[in-house]
Amino acid sequence: MDDNKRPYNKLSYVPFFKIKITDDFWATRQKINREVSIPRQLEQLEEDHHITNFRVAAGVKNGTHLGEFYFDSDLYKWLEAAFYILHMHKDNNLEKKVNEIVDLIVKAQLKDGYVNTFYSPRFIEKRFTNFPFMHELYCAGHLIQAAIAQYKANGSKELLKVAEKFANFIAKVFQNKKNKEVPGHEEIEMALIELFRITKKRDYLILSRKLINNRGHISGLTAYVIRKYLNFNQTLKVAKKVNDIFKKKKPNLNYSKRGEEYEVTDFYSDLTLNEKIKFILSILNGKCFQLNIPVREIVDPEGHAVRAMYLFCGVADLYSELGDQSLLNVLQRIWLKIVKGKMYISGGIGSIKGIEGFQKDFKLRNEKSYSETCAAIGFLMWSWRLLQITGHCKYADLIERLLYNAMLVGYSIDGRKYFYSNPLVSYGQEERKEWFLCACCPPNVARIIASLGNYIYSMSEKGIWIHQYIGNESQVTLHNNTIKIELKSNFPWNGMVKIKLGLDKNRNFSIFLRVPQWCINTTLTVNGKKYYGPLTPGKYVEIIRNWIDKDLIELNFEMVPRLLESDPRIKSNRGKGVLSYGPLIYCLEQKDNKNFDILNMKIPRDQDFEISHEPNLLDGITIIKGHISDEEKFIAIPYYAWNNRGSTKMQVWNKVI
Ligand SMILES: [Zn+2]
Repeated sequence: MDDNKRPYNKLSYVPFFKIKITDDFWATRQKINREVSIPRQLEQLEEDHHITNFRVAAGVKNGTHLGEFYFDSDLYKWLEAAFYILHMHKDNNLEKKVNEIVDLIVKAQLKDGYVNTFYSPRFIEKRFTNFPFMHELYCAGHLIQAAIAQYKANGSKELLKVAEKFANFIAKVFQNKKNKEVPGHEEIEMALIELFRITKKRDYLILSRKLINNRGHISGLTAYVIRKYLNFNQTLKVAKKVNDIFKKKKPNLNYSKRGEEYEVTDFYSDLTLNEKIKFILSILNGKCFQLNIPVREIVDPEGHAVRAMYLFCGVADLYSELGDQSLLNVLQRIWLKIVKGKMYISGGIGSIKGIEGFQKDFKLRNEKSYSETCAAIGFLMWSWRLLQITGHCKYADLIERLLYNAMLVGYSIDGRKYFYSNPLVSYGQEERKEWFLCACCPPNVARIIASLGNYIYSMSEKGIWIHQYIGNESQVTLHNNTIKIELKSNFPWNGMVKIKLGLDKNRNFSIFLRVPQWCINTTLTVNGKKYYGPLTPGKYVEIIRNWIDKDLIELNFEMVPRLLESDPRIKSNRGKGVLSYGPLIYCLEQKDNKNFDILNMKIPRDQDFEISHEPNLLDGITIIKGHISDEEKFIAIPYYAWNNRGSTKMQVWNKVI
């Protein structure tokens, strides 16, 4: 099913299920995602009580809710990823498991439409009393997205009916509310618009618009936030009390140990005093939740980075449907602001741990840089929306940077472990983990990798846009004609790309090819004939011609190892450089450089770096080799590949002389 045409977008994306990823790099990761990550994540969700919470809420198991108040969302996100996988691959075991979970969600829905396992079995009367702190609408958003994924995967409306009924209930709640309350963790804004696109029911679009327009209009914000914070604390206490009473009554029930440990969040206990102060201030002034300012007035993106990204996705979707130029203006302005002053070289964003969010411009320290994997994913999702709206190459360039660096570093090569936060320098303490108390990142990575095809092509009136050079075979539709595309590449290890077209008859249209921003020297031939027009980095080149079957486009994006230097306004990077190759940024790990301390060495700028492809190292990587002195050589590996051989010192920004 295609629901990818938007009234105010310049481009419409080609959905992932029309694209078979064939390149070694990503096809391997999709396979690992399918065969290793998804089953392992399910085990973790089971172990941590996420699924049992639904059994309890559905009334099929005696028990109580264990774990955090947002646990439902992690299961929904996993379901969404599982549906993307089932859309492309038959897997009876996965299907069985997914059906069982869908059945539990159906049964856990209350008659009025409400679904939330934290509230419904214990204190339903408290629901929707705390929009800023509790995550009912955030969870609802992920439920809607999982439901849409199911509907697209197999046409089943089972979960979609649940999602609609819940969305109708939420619409009623907001219809009756005269105040300007909005959720403290955005997500439902984009989900409601996706639901509108599937169902064509305009109420969902209107509700999303209301939630976006209401933001930033609460009077007496600090007093309101304090009241809600006290309510939040009180709710967690009551939850624990109810559980203690229940467990006394039913001591023989098999409670999940880990779910129990997670009853009260301990995230903030290991913050430094400075981080705690920043966190408290950002709560009190509402910035953490983007409650402090109306969307159209945002000048400087502030607060929690994932929340901000999901909000901007919703705002972009609203523009796509209604064409409100004031929304697009603000999105374009703040996107640039982030890229120029608030983004790490990896594409990672959100540098303060306490609020998991934005710092002032150019304050991007490398040690303990927060750079949550989900923030990179949110940035990718938002940039992808802006790309479809505008057709500007800078958004596709950033998507590439995020895919190969800031997102991928959060996912281990074997598909079993994750980073939640992603430092750019390590003294050897960091280690990837199989799971987290707040398990947002693992299923988020899973859903992006499973739907990776979404990011490769778009269509416009004029023709086909190729954004990412990920090897694939696909079929796109242009003016009701099917065009086959076979794209072969060995990205990110070399820049040779071959694109072969399959046409039933000659057709006149354009092909827009992205010339990556990092590529200084590009060559392009069509059927062996050189293209002499400009090939400007960071722009699309448009080839208009009468294409015939088996036409062949060959591109060579020259990849050379380079030493990039930072904007001098970033204090922590002054006098430092980062190694890069094609779309990848590189780091040094102590493991590969045993003769010197990688944190205390200097790389001479004046040298020719070499590359060498190592098929047996870290599942096959290209390394960069250079020297720090006449005697001493160094090896750098792609940043995404660090910490796959245990803990070790690591550094992205190296001192240079
Ligand atoms: Zn996360």
